[in-house]
Amino acid sequence: MLLIACPWCGEREELEFHYGGQAHVPYPADPEGLSDGEWAEYLFVRDNPKGPFAERWSHAAGCRRWFNLIRHTVTHEILAVQSNRPVAAGQPKPVLP
Ligand SMILES: [Zn+2]
Repeated sequence: MLLIACPWCGEREELEFHYGGQAHVPYPADPEGLSDGEWAEYLFVRDNPKGPFAERWSHAAGCRRWFNLIRHTVTHEILAVQSNRPVAAGQPKPVLP
């Protein structure tokens, strides 16, 4: 069982959280212009690294807020937890360790 440190509530058991998939997947700038294949790729195709991976999580049984964390997919070690404040336009994405 993972212990996840919610940025607002502190460390809680994994069962209190809901996994939200890969973090930092940008919404298409022109969704109407995408082909069905491109739209399907946006919806369903995600990275599957062996190593650090940025993920979205919700503290569903707690404060219900979303945040990002970086988890090593082999060891499950949580390398960083990031509050989910919007990133201003032009700001770089967080860098994986
Ligand atoms: Zn929380």
